[in-house]
Amino acid sequence: MSAFDSAVGNGVDAERPARREFKARGSFVTRCERCQLPVLNCLCPYQVKAESVAQVWLLTHRMEHYKPTNTGRLIRDVITSTQVFTWYRTAPDAQLAALLEDPRYAPFVIFPDDQPDYADRVVDIEAVHAAKHEARIPVFIILDGTWRQARRMFRKSAYLDALPVLPLRTERETRYRLRKPASKTHLCTAEVAIELLRQSEDTHAADLLDDYFEVFNDSYAASRLHHKIDPPTAAMQRLLLLQGA
Ligand SMILES: [Zn+2]
Repeated sequence: MSAFDSAVGNGVDAERPARREFKARGSFVTRCERCQLPVLNCLCPYQVKAESVAQVWLLTHRMEHYKPTNTGRLIRDVITSTQVFTWYRTAPDAQLAALLEDPRYAPFVIFPDDQPDYADRVVDIEAVHAAKHEARIPVFIILDGTWRQARRMFRKSAYLDALPVLPLRTERETRYRLRKPASKTHLCTAEVAIELLRQSEDTHAADLLDDYFEVFNDSYAASRLHHKIDPPTAAMQRLLLLQGA
């Protein structure tokens, strides 16, 4: 298995209603209402926007929305075209289903190619470049949940069945520090998007998102130790410069 937030998830997969107050570790601290980080290391000063040719559409399991450690939201913060859909087992998202019919887009489901029954749908990054040559907008559909949730979303969403499957191939090892990964090769959701954008030559967007992810990662980890990051890290300084630009 590779390349999902999911794969580093906490195994919470039960069908229970999401609560507004998710009892995450450290939930007693005062959080910034905008970025959800402890105010000690608020992320807001580092939020920059980037344009990309390829788009990311997140299909997010409803349990993920309430986890402050979720990294899918970082993609939405930075890449302006990002769309977020909530996945429900019983009700397919009508808006997403309609968008998948829109010929302007070339959607790819990001999923490992480790099962034989959909091998005929598996493509590589060349298919993304080919879509761009046809003046279509490549779309990376990332299943945002625990590994078990992502697998269910993949298997139980009929509107994804006709789409090409793009496995992420990368040498990158995860730098995500907020959930324990089963393996270093299991990337979190933001890291999956960063590598896909990089491979599809949206380099600037990938670099900004990578810096923003790093700031999130460092800030969150420091806050767990009640430590304020000061002076700003190199990634923080790069983002602050862009803010002033
Ligand atoms: Zn904030």
